[in-house]
Amino acid sequence: MITSGLAEDFVLAPARCVARTLRRGQTLRITDLEGQQVADVIAFALPDLSDRLWPSTTIRLNGTVYLTTGHTLYSELSRPLLSIVEDTCGRHDILAGSCNAEIDKIRYGVDDHRGCVENFVEAIAPWGLGRPDVPMSFNAFMNCPVEPDGSWSIVEPASRAGDYITLRAVTDVLVAVSNCPQDLNPCNAGELKPLRIAVSAASQSQGEEKPT
Ligand SMILES: [Zn+2]
Repeated sequence: MITSGLAEDFVLAPARCVARTLRRGQTLRITDLEGQQVADVIAFALPDLSDRLWPSTTIRLNGTVYLTTGHTLYSELSRPLLSIVEDTCGRHDILAGSCNAEIDKIRYGVDDHRGCVENFVEAIAPWGLGRPDVPMSFNAFMNCPVEPDGSWSIVEPASRAGDYITLRAVTDVLVAVSNCPQDLNPCNAGELKPLRIAVSAASQSQGEEKPT
């Protein structure tokens, strides 16, 4: 586990969301404290916030829908944003996108069920971003197996208490993490639980362009 020089280390309560900027080289570790809790993650390149995490680019350039250590999250313009440098769980999702009020109305018949998209909209507002800017997410600890016949479903996470995934900024990024509030399907195994977020300190050289 990368432990040296943490800039931040805090518990993200159930259903809460946080957004942070990372300089190139900084890491963000998400720990599933109690097990079976999903964290939706979105990211934007800095300073060009219009270039965002793009799951289809990520799938094509990694050649898999099951991302783990050694894989990279890419933007729409195929810019590497975050690389996965540690992963003790081994099962995450890049196909499902985020829960939101509109899809929960259709699939569960409920009104105004706050989801990760609504969380993200609030978290990224300080950067002048809004709902149309929220990209499809990478969902840490979410377990959505694709069967040989192409069928797809949301099942309970494989993560156990203490499992963690660490993302390293390949370039300067804005990243947001939503502690997924979904309680209407097996996504979070029927209970919303806290996550721990740890951000490494930036070194002085991080994020600076090399002189040419
Ligand atoms: Zn969610």
